[in-house]
Amino acid sequence: MSTPRIGLLYAGGTLGMVRSPAGYVPDRGLQQALARRLPEPGTDGLPHWTLIETERLIDSAEAQPGDWQALAATVAKHYDAFDGFIVIHGTDTMAYTASALSFALRGLRKPVIFTGSQIPLCEPRSDALNQLTGALQLAATHPLPEVMLFFAGRLMRGNRSTKVASDDLDAFDTPHFPPLARVGIQVETGPGLALPMPGAEAFEIAPAAHAEVAVLRLWPGLGVERLRRFLAPPLHGLVLQTYGAGNGPVSMPGFLDLLTQVSAQGTVIVNVSQCLRGRISAAYATGTAWAQAGVVGGLDLTLEAAVTKLHHLLASGLDPEQIRQQIPRPWCGECSPAADPV
Ligand code: ASP
Repeated sequence: MSTPRIGLLYAGGTLGMVRSPAGYVPDRGLQQALARRLPEPGTDGLPHWTLIETERLIDSAEAQPGDWQALAATVAKHYDAFDGFIVIHGTDTMAYTASALSFALRGLRKPVIFTGSQIPLCEPRSDALNQLTGALQLAATHPLPEVMLFFAGRLMRGNRSTKVASDDLDAFDTPHFPPLARVGIQVETGPGLALPMPGAEAFEIAPAAHAEVAVLRLWPGLGVERLRRFLAPPLHGLVLQTYGAGNGPVSMPGFLDLLTQVSAQGTVIVNVSQCLRGRISAAYATGTAWAQAGVVGGLDLTLEAAVTKLHHLLASGLDPEQIRQQIPRPWCGECSPAADPV
């Protein structure tokens, strides 16, 4: 069997950053830095890899939906030349980009693994080499047909992931889904967790459109007038982060009326929980009232998956009611339907 070929797409982030007087900044010298530290491509059990720098090397805190689309286009451009891809990305918004690409890359038959590091490759205690060699080996030996994220020894589903620590090397988690694999002395895979290989569907990038999607986290003290200003048009989609299992101040005069009105005007409002673990349910009367206002329950979607799914559905030409119906339906493993809790 020939040695797999992996495309290493470099989008920026701490992994390839260098010191500057203002702090760490992205740098174009990653090829040389990797050549000094990694074995020759195709030797020592590693696949062949080729570094491809994206046009906009950024701190991922600068990422915009246009960057998701550009990255999806880069994967598509090089799709036939490689057996899989690693995306070197900043950790701050990695979960958003991984979620966005899980929706954008339709009919994906090759692994796309996001990784990065908490300490730059140029620093003595960097975690970068471990992440990169782990991701390269996984892409070559466990070519799962989906968008994933590899960090601190765990291979996770991209659209289930969220950044949980800024000061810990173990920076990501998938609170509602087990890891697809754990890399210790051996690679342990979770049986039956990966997405199935697509059938007849051809590989293509989903259409993108400019949509106004916003996020609002409820807090005690949010009043109707501030809510009204926040919901001012244009607003195509809103992710509403509610308390607990999906609750909010529904008895405040005017609060629910406003949400009902905005939904009726075509804004798709998705209810996700502020809690890291747990799903939206109709256990409380306050939660049920949202549903009556047209707010759709986002089950166990992460914030990142809810935002990017809304962008994706808004670009797909569906009307608001059709989008509401699609929110609780898993497109690529991003949520667990009510009858199938994980
Ligand atoms: N601010 C950096 C980024 O997201 C953090 C990192 O990469 O860890 O690009």
